[in-house]
Amino acid sequence: MKKELIMVGPPASGKGTQTKKLVAETGLKHVDTGSMLREAVAAKTEAGVIAKEYMDKGQLVPVEIVGRIIKDRLSKDDCKKGFILDGFPRSLEQAEILDNILAELDKDEDVDMKVVYFDMPIDNLIERIVNRRSCPACGAIFNVKTMTLKKDGKCDFCETELVQRADDNEETAKSRFNTYFEQTAPLIDLYEKRGNLVKVNAAGTIDEVFAALKEVIG
Ligand SMILES: [Zn+2]
Repeated sequence: MKKELIMVGPPASGKGTQTKKLVAETGLKHVDTGSMLREAVAAKTEAGVIAKEYMDKGQLVPVEIVGRIIKDRLSKDDCKKGFILDGFPRSLEQAEILDNILAELDKDEDVDMKVVYFDMPIDNLIERIVNRRSCPACGAIFNVKTMTLKKDGKCDFCETELVQRADDNEETAKSRFNTYFEQTAPLIDLYEKRGNLVKVNAAGTIDEVFAALKEVIG
């Protein structure tokens, strides 16, 4: 049976980390919107050429064009057994486009499609973000509340002074999450009603969340 996983979750929910682990374990193809766009532009596909015109002007690529790029990508051989889609859909409009893509791609397929929602209360997410520090030298990320650093304020790997990203503050985090929840909440309702939604409690440690993730995807 073809396995299709759609990953949905707010920023800082750990969705990216968990997706990487899952890809390594299952061998399913990971397709994310950013890479797909870049690939299509580089390959100069019909939709890629149109997308580039918008990107060159600094404009958002229209959702129909993104849809065509996703359809092209998911039609390739390495997605025949299944895939993990990340970064799409993020709104009801995008969900409708994905419905049309999958209806056509999977019309003769036996498919196990699940939407995995990384569930985490907004307060926990904000706390994660404001306690996040990164190493400007090696890129490592630390949570100064939940982790004990070997040397206070310094990177465990290279001892460089850790910094806080300018947009990792409570105010910016709140507005990011409000936009996210506004657009994504209806999406969650939709998939829940259809019976495709599985929820993972994203508030645990990386290993705890991964164990929960494997359980719900079966
Ligand atoms: Zn470092």
